Amino acid sequence: MDTSPATRLLHANDHPEEGAPIVEPIFSTSLYRMAGAPEDAERFYGRYHSPNWTALETALGGLEDASAVAFASGLGAAHALILALGERAKRFVVARDSYFGARKLLDAMRPFGVEAVPVDCADHDAVRAALAGAPSVLWVETPSNPYLIVFDLAALGELAAAAGAPMVVDNTTATAVLQRPLDLGATACLVSLTKATSGHSDVVLGAVTSRDRALVEQLEGWRIAAGAIPGPFETWLAHRGLRTLPLRIARQSATAALVARYLAEHPRVTAVHYPGLDPRTAELAHRQMPDGCGPLLSFEVAGGAAAADALVRASRLFVAATSFGGVESSWERRARWASETAAEGLVRASCGIEEPDDLVADLEQALASLGG
Ligand SMILES: *Cc1c(COP(=O)(O)O)cnc(C)c1O
Repeated sequence: MDTSPATRLLHANDHPEEGAPIVEPIFSTSLYRMAGAPEDAERFYGRYHSPNWTALETALGGLEDASAVAFASGLGAAHALILALGERAKRFVVARDSYFGARKLLDAMRPFGVEAVPVDCADHDAVRAALAGAPSVLWVETPSNPYLIVFDLAALGELAAAAGAPMVVDNTTATAVLQRPLDLGATACLVSLTKATSGHSDVVLGAVTSRDRALVEQLEGWRIAAGAIPGPFETWLAHRGLRTLPLRIARQSATAALVARYLAEHPRVTAVHYPGLDPRTAELAHRQMPDGCGPLLSFEVAGGAAAADALVRASRLFVAATSFGGVESSWERRARWASETAAEGLVRASCGIEEPDDLVADLEQALASLGG
């Protein structure tokens, strides 16, 4: 039976035997009995395999008709991906505004021959020129962060294919429910499960999804060799969270779109960034993410850093915190981070699953508290 992703996700690990547990138990063991040769053993040691990884990876991979490999964090997954793809090309053409940690990691790997070439992924001529330089990997993140710019994955996928470059898409913000980069030419997707995919702000974990069998085996190999393995309990939590991802992300996306429209009308707000709001990329945003554009938006308030800090403190519902994607709404003034290049007064907000009207009422009182 051909079922939809949301249904597949819930039944990915069904065991039909009478008396089987409905939920995979937590396999908190480092060792498995093994009397014979390792080649003949299904399991033997916890750095090599875990039934909890398998359960999570089956559910996560199923969402994209792909294989998934879980890691101890999103950056652990990124590291393994750079190592594995580095066997094909060590030159990474990377979206200029992609996740700071990934760009920092690429820079840190320079002594090992890795080269990062920043590019504006909205400028297709620049991407084509950058890829023409030498064998490369194209590394894209869309929507970008914190300006939520949408890049055209189908077009970038064609440019990558023409150059013979594998394309990596960091799909953390939209998640595999809203955006399917593997259908648009990506060789691999990176996802920080820490964010909306697990969704409950209770775990740090990451994964790569891919349909490239050789790459998947390399990633599994690097997980064993370098040891960035997810713990069984964290894996179990991420899997538990994942099962409600389609419900959560639909609600969060609808709320974020509502909040973005509300803020765009507010006299204290000077700019709002959300996919679909900008008429120049609205058609692309809705084509690439037809079921919603994710929980994350950003906006700028008149009065710069001081006004933004006061606003963040004045909210009763948006938790002052970094990161995003959880069931509780959260926000922060981004430029409080030294590495951030965003405007001083820019607030990045992540919409949770609270009643949307309550969030708007909270924003109303918080913005009113700024006065004038
Ligand atoms: C958080 C994040 C990461 C890194 O994930 P961790 O789980 O924190 O290691 C990578 N990419 C994006 C877009 C992120 O938001």
